Amino acid sequence: MPAAPSGGVAAGGESPLDVLRRVFGFDAFRGQQQAIIDHVLAGGDAVVLMPTAGGKSLCYQIPALLRPGLGVVVSPLVALMKDQVDALRQAGVRAAALNALQPPAEAAATERAARAAALDLLYVAPERLLTERCLDLLSHCRIALFAIDEAHCISQWGHDFRPEYQKLTVLRERFAGVPLIALTATADEPTRKDIVAQLRLGRAPIFAAGYDRPNLYYRVVDKKSPLEQLRRFLANEHPEDAGIVYCFTRRAVEETAGWLTVHGREALPYHAGLDAATRERHQQRFLREEGVVVVATIAFGMGIDKPNVRFVAHLDPPKNLEAYYQETGRAGRDGLPADAWMTYGIGDVMNLLRLLDDAAPERRLIERRKIDALVGYCETTACRRQVLLGYFGERDHPPCENCDNCRAPPESWDGTVSAQKALSAIYRTGQRFGTQHLADVLLGNATERVCALGHDRLKTFGVGAELDRKGWLSVFRQLVAQGIVKPDLAHGGLSLAPPAADILRGAATIRLRREKKGAMPRESRSGASAAATLDPAERKLFEALRAWRLGEARRQEMPPYVIFHDTTLVELARRRPDSLAALSLVPGVGRSKLDRYGRALIAVLSKPAVVGTHTSAAPDEPSPPLGAERAAPGPARP
Ligand code: ADP
Ligand code: ZN
Repeated sequence: MPAAPSGGVAAGGESPLDVLRRVFGFDAFRGQQQAIIDHVLAGGDAVVLMPTAGGKSLCYQIPALLRPGLGVVVSPLVALMKDQVDALRQAGVRAAALNALQPPAEAAATERAARAAALDLLYVAPERLLTERCLDLLSHCRIALFAIDEAHCISQWGHDFRPEYQKLTVLRERFAGVPLIALTATADEPTRKDIVAQLRLGRAPIFAAGYDRPNLYYRVVDKKSPLEQLRRFLANEHPEDAGIVYCFTRRAVEETAGWLTVHGREALPYHAGLDAATRERHQQRFLREEGVVVVATIAFGMGIDKPNVRFVAHLDPPKNLEAYYQETGRAGRDGLPADAWMTYGIGDVMNLLRLLDDAAPERRLIERRKIDALVGYCETTACRRQVLLGYFGERDHPPCENCDNCRAPPESWDGTVSAQKALSAIYRTGQRFGTQHLADVLLGNATERVCALGHDRLKTFGVGAELDRKGWLSVFRQLVAQGIVKPDLAHGGLSLAPPAADILRGAATIRLRREKKGAMPRESRSGASAAATLDPAERKLFEALRAWRLGEARRQEMPPYVIFHDTTLVELARRRPDSLAALSLVPGVGRSKLDRYGRALIAVLSKPAVVGTHTSAAPDEPSPPLGAERAAPGPARP
């Protein structure tokens, strides 16, 4: 890519806060950003552990702008580099990248710019950085700092080990005295230790921000007809939002994408069975268009940096809570409300247990515990965030008010007697029948099968009038989840596990969760759409701004969020600034973007058709045809 326009941004005498305001258009630092920046600015090393969307980037970008020389950012996510660099350039920062995906001429131009001290930030893939050519280039530059992004890649414990990360020690040897900052969202103890040891950060302070993602709304719904439940969830709460739907198998992925498409959603499948070109095309559409849903196996998501993913839906449960945290973590990176939604039923518990058979014997106990934790999360009547954070070692979190259980506390009831009936039905039918048949027996349904087996003559036949079929299925599911009943994984038949004895004898009681009534628990909330907090007129304005942004993004051939984040569009729609001065106060509008887009934005914001008032503004700007770009398929406009 060609060197960015002249005039770096580190004007003399500026403070970090000045740079935050002028370049990034934000008002104040978040969490520990200020402390980290001050520390690195003064030449210190640092380890930064912050959840996704915590705001890690500014922690090295701002010191790199304020310290003399070039900030070098090591990142394994080569596919994202172009977007990161584009976003910085939009903000007027002289940024560039070196990686294997770019044409040689572009790399040569970047190298020249680095040598000429005409760059503020350089993004490099680790394997590229480790070449003698690159190390030599850097040794001829003044280096402001090294930032090692996704630093967990250095650890074999991590989920994403990259051997070349371990060779980054060379930076400590060849660039002694240059501050080094390691950043990651994966903060477990062994990974943290590896990062510190291998990058020789023993004396560096660790800035840890905890795991919580407060803007994610966690919800688990009872699995009934999952596709229809998903369709309704999307129609009610995310009619126009981008999001990810996870399924367990490729077939389920294809089926779900097809179903959503038939129901009018732009839904693209993504799994390892598709050829690379198709996968790439689908990913690009997800990134570059608005409102696209990707239906995927876990193959999708690593390095998805799209900030305005408004929901992550699991039609099948994840493998464990680590995976759940990671997969749902892809939602709401911009800090706006987003949904983590899952359907869950008894079949899922069985499928998970079945996977245990594939685990190596020595891993089985660990895996079993992980499944128990996941099932515990799904079944809990307590705050889901507490369960999730507790699992990661944060045990003192107060109830969050932003999960289904906090908003609509589920009722629990003394299920001892019903459990006894259910257990007795299992026992008397010979411990080999599945839940549907057992429910028939309890309800006294003299089906052909029930009669043929003589189960209509059992003592338990028809004793379960207190619950309906759904109610009994829920009892069985909870008995399995609590380890009181054991499913036969091949045939789905249930048998008694040791704890069942105490319940049958009346020596133990059991509390069960009452299933919510109605087809789908519709909490009284209007959805997590970015524009959810806007009134109808503001929402129209937001749509108009989105359409304008999409047009601009296509013209410049980059994803929309590189131009402005949704957060900024929401604020623009709410405040409706009518002058450049007022516009500059909106979060996310720094000086460079004000120069580039200020007039166009004011034109969109004053467009009469949008708000129904008649103003005579919007004079000479070629204002975009509102809504037109959204509908128009195909790539860039001229
Ligand atoms: P991470 O790398 O930790 O996942 P990012 O650095 O991408 O997170 O930041 C997440 C989001 O928060 C981005 O949209 C970013 O612009 C925004 N952000 C970060 N710091 C601030 C701040 N101080 N004020 C407002 N927005 C911020
Ligand atoms: Zn909660």
